Amino acid sequence: MSRIVSVETLLVQLPTRRVHKWTGLTEPIGRYLIVRMKDDAGHVGWGEAPALKDWGGEFGRYFGESPSIARHVIEHYLAVAVTGMPHGDFAGLHRRMDAVIKGYPYAKAAVDFAYYDLSAQVLDTPVTTLLGGLARERVPVTHSIGLLGIDEAVNECVRVVGEGIRTIKIKVGQDPKRDVEIVRAIREAVGPAPDLCVDANEGYATPGEAIRTLRAMEPYGLKYAEQPVMGIERLAEVSRAIDTPVMADESAWNAHDVVQIAERRAAEIVSVYTTKPGGLYRAMEVAAVCKAAGIVCNVNGSVETGIGNRANIALAASAPAVTLSCVVPVSTPAAAQGGQIGGIYYTDDLLEAPMRLVEGAIEMPEVRGMGIAVDEAKVAQYRVRQAEA
Ligand SMILES: [Mg+2]
Repeated sequence: MSRIVSVETLLVQLPTRRVHKWTGLTEPIGRYLIVRMKDDAGHVGWGEAPALKDWGGEFGRYFGESPSIARHVIEHYLAVAVTGMPHGDFAGLHRRMDAVIKGYPYAKAAVDFAYYDLSAQVLDTPVTTLLGGLARERVPVTHSIGLLGIDEAVNECVRVVGEGIRTIKIKVGQDPKRDVEIVRAIREAVGPAPDLCVDANEGYATPGEAIRTLRAMEPYGLKYAEQPVMGIERLAEVSRAIDTPVMADESAWNAHDVVQIAERRAAEIVSVYTTKPGGLYRAMEVAAVCKAAGIVCNVNGSVETGIGNRANIALAASAPAVTLSCVVPVSTPAAAQGGQIGGIYYTDDLLEAPMRLVEGAIEMPEVRGMGIAVDEAKVAQYRVRQAEA
């Protein structure tokens, strides 16, 4: 069997459709580290570390990773550890990566994705088969409204609902009065049918402020309230006080975090990422613990390029605990964009073909490997060569 011979990194910056911000984010989205892994038979696998220095766990529990940190960890430690490995040994891959350096889950996730991509190509199977098979054939998409002005947000929501999107996530956590007002305005504009969710990214100062604000939003109908405050104990306090289910995101990085969330009944919903736990192999562990604890999940991320988003939809389609609509982009190269904006955050992407959106859901492609092929010319076009921050 062929073996891994190289793991390269390259930085890209995709052009954004509009500014996309959330509470705590200070960088543009889409400036992400890409991994290209090759084997001695000439196969190529691709991965991505959508590393953000502003993104970490509660109370300093996990650290931000910038692209340059992820690049250093991959080039100096992970590439050396996995070179020479045969295909398909996912437990072995993580054992080697964890033995050579603790932490750095975003760097490890990028290597994990590329390894799954490569292994699935060599084994001539879709990557979802390696994750246990398809739990569903379509992944419903939640469209995320960043921290926009109220009028702009209302206009965008009306447009995406017209395009078939059925769930909208509204970024809040800024100012309680503005946050209640934007939920009210969007609900009045879109009518009763679409599901609305709010994500505060830990932005409320206290559980009391979160409880008062979320209660004031509840008359407009919320599917869930995501990470209103920092901390598992404080999430539990909010959960006990409101009717809307609470989702843990920043509080739920790995399977151990989910055990604590379940023990303390801090959240009914967990947002599983392919990246927070360190790759698809670990994300399936997180989802399995959620399933055992009776916690339902969505898949959420950092507005990945199409390369990393292929891993998102593979997880969303394969993990039985993931039953909710997912906050994943609809990765679409420029030539295939026809003015639609639902799930579109970039004006171009790194894939040869678009993800197919049918009735507000991405249809799983029937292809071997991680999915739709990567467009090497686009990777070259959007490559950033100077030293990055
Ligand atoms: Mg979130």
